[in-house]
Amino acid sequence: MVTSEINFDKPQQVDLDRCVHCGLCLNACPTYRELGVEMDSPRGRIYQMVQVANGAPITESYKEHIDLCLACRGCESACPSGVQYGRLIEAARSEIETTTERGWLARTVRNFVFKKLLPSPALLTAAGASLWMYQVSGLQRLVRASGIAALLGPLGAREALAPAAEIPFFFREIGKTFPAEGKRKYRVAFMAGCIANISFARLNEATVRVLQKNGCEVVIPVNQTCCGALHVHAGIRDEARKLARRNIDAVVDGGFDAIITNAAGCGSTLKEYDELLEHDPVYAERARTFKSLMKDVTEFLGSIELNRELGTIDATVTYQDSCHLAHGQKIRKAPRELLKAVPGLKFREMPLSDICCGSAGIYNVLHTALSMDILEKKMGNVNLTKAEIITTSNPGCMIQLQAGVRKWGHGERVAHVVEILDEAYRSKI
Ligand code: SF4
Ligand code: SF4
Repeated sequence: MVTSEINFDKPQQVDLDRCVHCGLCLNACPTYRELGVEMDSPRGRIYQMVQVANGAPITESYKEHIDLCLACRGCESACPSGVQYGRLIEAARSEIETTTERGWLARTVRNFVFKKLLPSPALLTAAGASLWMYQVSGLQRLVRASGIAALLGPLGAREALAPAAEIPFFFREIGKTFPAEGKRKYRVAFMAGCIANISFARLNEATVRVLQKNGCEVVIPVNQTCCGALHVHAGIRDEARKLARRNIDAVVDGGFDAIITNAAGCGSTLKEYDELLEHDPVYAERARTFKSLMKDVTEFLGSIELNRELGTIDATVTYQDSCHLAHGQKIRKAPRELLKAVPGLKFREMPLSDICCGSAGIYNVLHTALSMDILEKKMGNVNLTKAEIITTSNPGCMIQLQAGVRKWGHGERVAHVVEILDEAYRSKI
């Protein structure tokens, strides 16, 4: 057994001890706001983790309360005692994962999705092509319009959350280098994601164009893979470590000024590779170097002198904080400042913009009913702004908000901040 495979993944007493049970985090917690149950609050979950750390058995009830957590880390921002809740919940899930016996079917599906599908461009392309066929053949329209979706119950509700497949997929750009527009000021690597290559191909293209407009030579490193965020959230940390090592090897020696992502959920995990590999004698130092270069695209653009050759967009816009940007990476100002830089765009803040929309990785697929309850409240706050465009910084949030618009909205457009910038650059004559 190499050192990196030792199981360090359970809540550590030193982290648990930071909680003084004050309850100041309760109102920041979407599951507590929705259910009003102490055991589904941050304080309640930490209390249960303490019991397990002190020798209590891992019961089905414990698993359910830990599972119902969105891992949005809203509680972490609210906590005055510096409890690193994100670290705790991921460790608790890892401990559950390593002590849980799953049935053959569940094990096979999990292994396929996490170990085969997400890291494989070939399998993702095949899955994306099937999704594309389902959508363009009219079958999806039929399912949604005919009421079949409603008859399918929970499965039908999940169908509404299926992302669109965007042909041509971004996989065709992997390995390419895009030159800076004008004088080259920076050389950056772009992490294109996994599912984003098929479902957010246009967003990825827009991101590359905006970076080029800002003096970046953009390299799409050839050996990059899925960031491992979904694995970490599911407690499958050793698999996430394998992906982290691959991504580090793909970029860290490339002489880049920055490594860029447009997905806040991925960015949060990519910036935590140092924690994931902290006990790996070979990769710990490389992971720290990787982290020091890792930037969300809004963070990067907010840190340089922005190219202000932006055309006018005559619309009203609001911004939904992506949890893993606001709470995970503590970035709130940059996306708002970028939107405010666009001529003609009127920015309206929504109430509780930093409360989770209910997307949370694949939470909306696993806990669809609760996720939709959270989304309905979110759309109520969006509607108060009367904004025509809802922006955010994470593809997963975009899918969720699009579902929210279909159900409770007024035809608002959902866009990533970088897509709005791209549009403004392209409209400048
Ligand atoms: S997590 Fe922080 S805010 Fe919440 S109860 Fe514990 S100490 Fe208080
Ligand atoms: S991570 Fe989010 S859902 Fe989980 S306890 Fe904290 S605030 Fe609540």
